[in-house]
Amino acid sequence: MTAAQGEAQGEAQGFDGVERRGLMFVLSSPSGAGKTTLSRMLVAETPALQMSVSATTRQKRPGEVEGRDYYFVNQTRFDEMVANGELLEYATVFGNCYGTPRAPVEAALSSGKDVLFDIDWQGTQQLRSRSPNDVVSVFILPPSVAALEQRLHTRAQDSDEIIRGRMKKAGDEMSRFDAYDYIVVNDNIGIAFESVKSILRAEQLKRERQIGLTEFVRNLRRQLEK
Ligand code: 5GP
Repeated sequence: MTAAQGEAQGEAQGFDGVERRGLMFVLSSPSGAGKTTLSRMLVAETPALQMSVSATTRQKRPGEVEGRDYYFVNQTRFDEMVANGELLEYATVFGNCYGTPRAPVEAALSSGKDVLFDIDWQGTQQLRSRSPNDVVSVFILPPSVAALEQRLHTRAQDSDEIIRGRMKKAGDEMSRFDAYDYIVVNDNIGIAFESVKSILRAEQLKRERQIGLTEFVRNLRRQLEK
């Protein structure tokens, strides 16, 4: 990690008053495995976690909100973002372009927040090669093909043809599990949520992320000597 990257990462105040480095928490899965639900639950319960909102060239689905779910942009604007270096990572998924705007992520990290990414394996790889020590990645698997199909239909946002396409791609996407740090099988959303939350909490508490520990312990010892 370079000094500049370190600066961009920023420092957060930890749970116990110990200064902490922010982390980049990535959730990936085949569509329909419950990743979006888990992301929303996690952000709702974790004030110091900010969701990264991606830019995409795909059409807005019913119920999606500009700036909350995605920034919906045309191909020209997307290409411009790539050319200007405005994206931290980008990839083509299901024939559409997706990318993570760099500025909000850097601002969040430098204000001491952790950032949550709902991105695919290609984007995860790019983030990891850029910031190997700051990325924590979790892959969510469905408990069965039947559950995956049912979730895609229940979501009712896509046509049958698109759902068939997504099912076909699910096998490919699942085969990428071995590049992730943690794997959660989402059989029960409550249990999966507890698992994801525990992973985040444990990673936040890693010694090397608690960069203020030397100072903290020095203070404790000073008090003991009084
Ligand atoms: P959907 O169209 O269903 O919202 O997303 C399709 C896939 O694109 C999902 O696997 C999602 O994680 C991925 N994705 C969404 N945003 C990004 C992004 O900014 N970068 C990358 N690499 N993948 C993304």
